[in-house]
Amino acid sequence: MPEVSSFDVANRQLAECADILRLDPDVHAVLRSPMREVHVSLPIRMDDGTLKVFQGCRVQYNDARGPTKGGIRFHPDRTVDAIRAQSAWMTWKCALLDLPLGGAGGGIMCNPKEMSRNELERLSRAYVDALFEYLGPEKDIPAPDIYTDPQVMAWMMDEYFKLSRQSQFGVITGKPLAVGGSVGRADAAARGGMFVLREAAQTRGIELSRSRVAIQGFGNAGYFAALLCGSLFGAKVVAVSDSKGGVFNRDGLDPEAVRKYKGMTGSVIGMPKTEAISNEDLLELDVDILIPAAIENVITEANAPRIKAKILAELANGPTTPEADVLLHRKGIHHLPDVLCNAGGVTVSYFEMVQNSYMFHWDKEMIYDRLDKKQTASYHAVQDASQRFNITMRKAAYVVAVTRVVDSMRIRGRI
Ligand code: GLU
Repeated sequence: MPEVSSFDVANRQLAECADILRLDPDVHAVLRSPMREVHVSLPIRMDDGTLKVFQGCRVQYNDARGPTKGGIRFHPDRTVDAIRAQSAWMTWKCALLDLPLGGAGGGIMCNPKEMSRNELERLSRAYVDALFEYLGPEKDIPAPDIYTDPQVMAWMMDEYFKLSRQSQFGVITGKPLAVGGSVGRADAAARGGMFVLREAAQTRGIELSRSRVAIQGFGNAGYFAALLCGSLFGAKVVAVSDSKGGVFNRDGLDPEAVRKYKGMTGSVIGMPKTEAISNEDLLELDVDILIPAAIENVITEANAPRIKAKILAELANGPTTPEADVLLHRKGIHHLPDVLCNAGGVTVSYFEMVQNSYMFHWDKEMIYDRLDKKQTASYHAVQDASQRFNITMRKAAYVVAVTRVVDSMRIRGRI
């Protein structure tokens, strides 16, 4: 099958929404491309003394509702196309959650698994050096994404402080707690998804405590989703996977034990008392809840007809192609789109910015409560729009989000 362009997917989703809203073609044209893209080459001295040049970029999609916001990924083959798509999805996600933020995305083409800590630190700092004038708490605020973590955020924050000679904690989110991070940020994407899942299960009359769950991806979002499915709902996680493959146990897996095993061996595969399962087969398991929590374009028209889950909760960005959306809708699957389901990450990032700006920290209860309110309200806004216009949940999410962005652009006199 030809490689799917994620940005093309994002633009097809937007086009469907433009049709529903009967958007003026000129306005649609403005929304179709990023407002700014900056590409940088980052020469890094490697530990063995050689000099290696890495390509990085930052894409700022739309800032009508506020400074742009979105993660930075370190990945060998996540191309500029995927980052452009991410920046568009961040725009719609922030608008859907009604955050005063626009959307952005960024990344460096590199393989962090093959780099030392020192090399990663130099690379993180070089990225901020190269993009300094484009970043800032009132301009563009990065955060973690695929293969980046709080340590990377701390290095980037420190570099920004050095260059600006100011302690502006709000320049980046997903920071460690010791340097202005927020409690609840680490598991925020998964927890936000759980609040949406709770509402969705209620809508469909599904008893989560008796549900079986399969999760593709065992990074930050996937691991915490596995943990929270059990601890919040008593649901049984029967399969998880990572880029190398998956494991299955019909009686349920212990996410903590899987995490320890993966920490020791580098993968979930080979975990004792489990059967091996491929990433492809995991998606087609006979489960109640399916959670893609890895990368883009894994559910396509080729496998969508075989998906058996009753609820599909997208913790990854862009896991489903538009063709698959149609097939899943026809099958009656309650499909919770990425911009709704994984918005907990950026929502707690926003809480982190708020706390940074008044130099006061909230406790866990406050974060969870506010996150719950935001995700629950957004779920119902999307569910209502989906019923009202008889459209998929993704189209409904776009209708709500795009309307908000267009309103802001209009009020500012940009369109
Ligand atoms: N990378 C996360 C996302 O895709 C979080 C972005 C942020 O916190 O700014 O939603």
